[in-house]
Amino acid sequence: MFTRDLFNEEHEAFRRTVRRFIETEIAPHHQQWEDDGVVPRSLWRKAGDAGLLCCTVPERYGGAGADYLFDVVVFEEMARSGFSGPGFMIHCDLVATYIASFGSEAQKRQWLPKMVTGDAIGSLGMTEPHAGSDLKAIRTKAVRDGDSFVICGQKVFISNGQLCDVIVLATKTDSAAGAKGVTLFLVDTHLPGFRRGKNLKKLGMKAQDTSELFFEDLRVPASAMLGEEGRGFELMMTKLAQERLAQAIRSATVAETVVDYTVEYTADRKAFGKTIADFQNTQFKLAELKTEAVIGRQFTDACIAKFMKGDLDAIDAAMAKMWLSNMHCKVVDECLQLFGGWGYMWEYPIARAYADARVVKIAGGSIEVMKHIIGRDLFARRAPPKRSS
Ligand SMILES: Cc1cc2nc3c(=O)[nH]c(=O)nc-3n(C[C@H](O)[C@H](O)[C@H](O)COP(=O)(O)OP(=O)(O)OC[C@H]3O[C@@H](n4cnc5c(N)ncnc54)[C@H](O)[C@@H]3O)c2cc1C
Repeated sequence: MFTRDLFNEEHEAFRRTVRRFIETEIAPHHQQWEDDGVVPRSLWRKAGDAGLLCCTVPERYGGAGADYLFDVVVFEEMARSGFSGPGFMIHCDLVATYIASFGSEAQKRQWLPKMVTGDAIGSLGMTEPHAGSDLKAIRTKAVRDGDSFVICGQKVFISNGQLCDVIVLATKTDSAAGAKGVTLFLVDTHLPGFRRGKNLKKLGMKAQDTSELFFEDLRVPASAMLGEEGRGFELMMTKLAQERLAQAIRSATVAETVVDYTVEYTADRKAFGKTIADFQNTQFKLAELKTEAVIGRQFTDACIAKFMKGDLDAIDAAMAKMWLSNMHCKVVDECLQLFGGWGYMWEYPIARAYADARVVKIAGGSIEVMKHIIGRDLFARRAPPKRSS
């Protein structure tokens, strides 16, 4: 049996706190939030009070200054619960991390304490209607005007978009410069010129809001720039490994959880005078899926350990995201099959897990983009052919 050795007693005590929070503050309301298409702001404040948000933010900005494993515990417990509404991962792992890593002192003081308490909610605004995988093709413009920039453009598929107070926004400050023309801004959504569009209806993740956002002559001070002008693409690339690792963590946990409850269900459910688990097909199928879940867990934990040492590179992260996303989708699909018709009913968690899973092969870098990253590296490392004399 493989056991995990990443976590200490403090992490495990925190895990119990997170589980209790999910049982009392999320589970009883999640169905209503799925109907609403969004979770209430009050949940974010409660999560902040319970210490669940942005665990790694340093104490001087209101955080716990804890290690990354505390954030991992929150992501894992949310994934284990099957409740995908609260967009904590984007808020903590992406937005707060961007601000903590690249923000000025003033930006950190302005946003991080409120993000820790849940008084400010963060979004990451990269994708546009015509540019997702090819981020350097974005068209949202930021034009300098004295000490400010005027932003015009549109984003789509933005998680936490209905709720967000601050957006890490990717813009073009030089449309002719390709990737070198991309600049990030920290945009306060209470400024005039910001408009939220539709909360988009989705296949899964129904309680998590996903929106169109519009920027109409929105003026921000030059001090709202995150990092330097023209370096936005480079900054985004440095954080992609962390984002992909977080997605792999979610996939590893969902796969484990779904296999566990499918074992329980099939051991109980009867057909032809036996349990479903008595059929060899069920045992063989679950044996395969369990093995893949264990492999996924071991690789993910190895990636977490590498990340904690500062060694997780873009290729490792792409492999984790690609393999774990595929495995996640396969496990939920094949487990749902073992539930029969009940697996298709929303009252069974496997139905929600199935609907929520599909996005992992698309968002945060699609499977094809991951293959592109891994394949390009393979050939870049190839020794140049020897010349014949
Ligand atoms: C639920 C959800 C939440 C999201 N949240 C956010 C968010 O918070 N912030 C944000 O900025 N974005 C978000 N996104 C957007 C997401 O990151 C993009 O959808 C994703 O990057 C893919 O971009 P696209 O949809 O434009 O697809 P496209 O780029 O148009 O790709 C279409 C297809 O072509 C393939 N393809 C593209 N390029 C290549 C290539 N070079 N080689 C081979 N195949 C290729 C893709 O893999 C895909 O299969 C979210 C999306 C969803 C669905």
